[in-house]
Order: sequence, then structure tokens, then C-alpha cells
Amino acid sequence: MKTIGLIGGMSWESTVTYYKVINETIKRKLGGLHSAKILLYSVDFDEIEKYQASGEWDKSADVLSDAAERLEKAGADFIVICTNTMHKVVPQMKERIGIPIIHIAEATADKLKEHGITTVGLLGTKYTMIQDFYKDKLIEAGIRVIIPDDNDVETVNAVIYDELCLGNIIPASKDKYLEIIRKLEDAGAQGVILGCTEIGLLVNQKDVELPIFDTTLIHAEKAALTAINESM
Ligand code: GLU
Repeated sequence: MKTIGLIGGMSWESTVTYYKVINETIKRKLGGLHSAKILLYSVDFDEIEKYQASGEWDKSADVLSDAAERLEKAGADFIVICTNTMHKVVPQMKERIGIPIIHIAEATADKLKEHGITTVGLLGTKYTMIQDFYKDKLIEAGIRVIIPDDNDVETVNAVIYDELCLGNIIPASKDKYLEIIRKLEDAGAQGVILGCTEIGLLVNQKDVELPIFDTTLIHAEKAALTAINESM
């Protein structure tokens, strides 16, 4: 079994889900007492969030590249970054390490294609929804991406940083998300990407009929299957 190098803490609330889902997948596949070989480097999210807000992506790239180098030295066979947003700095990270990074948007695009989705709604941080680094991966895979309007982008983003990353799950915010998902469906989305690793703490498939693609679950499962050389 390969050793997974997790870069977590962004926020730690969702890193918990990664740890759980990776181990559950290994158990489901191998049975008995099997569990995943994991190295975890968990950052201080306060530092990362400040670099995001001030647009100092190079500094955050440095922190994550340093974490990836340490994981490689410690014996990780590949890297999994437990956040969608910070995939923005994957190109810089790749220059500093010799092991692969499993890209969350590529794993999600594969899943969407498997389900025949050609137009999808995207929820995530404002960086993920507005900037191109994430959407481009989906567009390259032939998928059309719809994002919420400006007001709703602000709402989705505020709930992530002010509530979910702090572990606060608030029913009124769930209602807001469900309304925004309805609007994405009206705009033609055949499914919705939960493109922030904490959104699954608030909304899941039981809440809506429209197919939901939770990037945390997709990415964690892909990591576990890669560790045992299986495909999704
Ligand atoms: N975990 C979130 C994501 O998947 C947001 C936190 C961050 O900015 O990294 O994008």
C-alpha cells in the first residue's frame, strides 16, 4: 500500500472528514483491520487565510510547498491537498517536489463525466468560484460551469469562512445554500459541485434531488484508491 501525504488544516474541520473517508474506503476495499498509511501535515489556517485575503498567493505557495517537501522526505508517495481553494498554488508546488499531487478538480471532473454531466453549478470560496484556476480544469474536461450571482457568491463565501471553517453549522445558512442550489438548477445545472471541503458539513445529497458532487468525498476516495492502485 502506498503512503498518502495529506496537507490539511484548511480548515481542520474538513481534514477530519478526509481522515475518516480515506480509512473507511481502505476498510471497505481490503476488509478486516486494514487502514490507510497516512502522513498528515496540518497547517495553521489563520496564516493561510490572511495570505488569501491580502492576495499574497506566493507566500501561501511557499508554506504549502514546504509542507509537501517535508511529506515527500518523510516517505509520502503522493500528495493530497485537503482544500479546493489552495489548488491555486499547485503549479508552484509541483516545481518543488518529485511526487504527484492528486488534483481535486481533476478527480471531480472525472466523476462528473462518469455521470454524464455536461453543465454543472459550482459552490466554493469566492476564489474558487470567480477565478479561473479551478473552473479551467472542468472546462478542459468539456464541462460548462455556472456560478451564483455576485450577491450569492458573497453569501456562499461568508458562510464558509465565518461559520463552517469555525465548526458552526447553522440551519439558516443551509436554507440559503439550498435556495442558491435551486437557482443554479433553474439556470441549467444538471448537478452541483460542493467545491469547498467544508460545504458537505452543511449540505448533502439527502437535502436535494439534484445530483451533488462533494469534492471532499470524491478526493478522499480517489486518494484511498490510488494508495491501493485501484481506479474510481
Ligand atoms: N476548505 C475550503 C476549500 O475547499 C476553504 C478553505 C480554504 O480557503 O482553503 O476551498
